[in-house]
Amino acid sequence: MTSMFLREYEAKNLISSHGIRVPDGVVLHKTKKLPLVRYPVIVKSQVPTGGRGKAGGVRVAENKQQLLSITQALFSHPIEGHIPSSLLVEEQLEIERELYLSLSLNRSTAAIELVAHAHGGIEIESRDDFFTAQLDEREFSKVGESLAEIYSIENKAFLLSELVAILYQVFCKQDAILLEINPLVLTTSGDLVAADCKMIVDDDASFRHTDWSFEEMGKSSNYVVLNKNGAVATVANGAGLAMATVDTIQAAGLVPANFLDIGGNATTESITSCFERIVELPNVSAIIINIFGGIVRCDDVARAIIAARRQIPSLPKLYIRLAGTNAREARSILNDSGIKLYESIEEAIEDAAQNG
Ligand code: GDP
Ligand code: MN
Repeated sequence: MTSMFLREYEAKNLISSHGIRVPDGVVLHKTKKLPLVRYPVIVKSQVPTGGRGKAGGVRVAENKQQLLSITQALFSHPIEGHIPSSLLVEEQLEIERELYLSLSLNRSTAAIELVAHAHGGIEIESRDDFFTAQLDEREFSKVGESLAEIYSIENKAFLLSELVAILYQVFCKQDAILLEINPLVLTTSGDLVAADCKMIVDDDASFRHTDWSFEEMGKSSNYVVLNKNGAVATVANGAGLAMATVDTIQAAGLVPANFLDIGGNATTESITSCFERIVELPNVSAIIINIFGGIVRCDDVARAIIAARRQIPSLPKLYIRLAGTNAREARSILNDSGIKLYESIEEAIEDAAQNG
């Protein structure tokens, strides 16, 4: 079973379309201008990992000036190696209490399990005494009563049972493995709002979901920032070749900034999005591209690289090694654009070292 971690805004879109309350908000993409909002707002990094609050990925902006500087900071702030390609800008809630609620797939009992705690929020890992219950479709009202008691909001048993029923429905419909609301906020005016939503779905079920179009799917690439201040960026196809490329750079005494496996997807679009990520790394002065053309053809890759380079003016110098199908055509295409094609990765790295 492989899993896919949805961005917070994607998960929130799903649950709110089924009637669960989430804060008002807008998704902000990198190139877009700032939205018109009513301050203060919460700005949240949309990375596929939890613990953003502790890692500085959840910030408050009191005015436009602050929103501008916070968005700039968050777009270049990796969290567990992930740089966000979007931010979520939301109304700030007036929080009375933060509660914890999650549904997850329990593999040993083959059931959906509910977990709750009266004290949610970023310290959830340090809590114990969690309430757990195996969910049964016929017993949502009972679960609602239990939750109302645990959370000490007795007047909300019905609302809570409805909340669980909806989460259960979304969980099943989306082939989820985890659906976590933390915090589920009780506002000062007595409403229950899902202030955060973390959702992991079973990627192996994607054939059932022609409706899925999550950020995690678009890129069939695998990107990890190794050293934010590294000097040499890498692009390779295949995890093995990508690792070997990073190792060879390191062995040559240079500092690799990233690992990037673009898989079998060396199109202009995928290479452009790789380059976009690389130019976010402040100290990169060379990009080493190491592609083996087995299924992909080197001449196609060469054309894609040239087209992608045209779209990013500030791109550091490219050092390219392509081998395999149609490598000769690739060489003449690159030469026409004034780019040298190296026979070996070692030669490419050596030249990068001398010019950097
Ligand atoms: P996570 O750290 O990745 O789980 O990010 P969360 O979205 O859960 O945010 C972390 C913490 O930020 C929450 O537990 C809240 O304490 C705080 N927070 C998030 N949204 C709001 C909000 O609208 N208002 C206030 N006051 N605090 C918020
Ligand atoms: Mn959270």
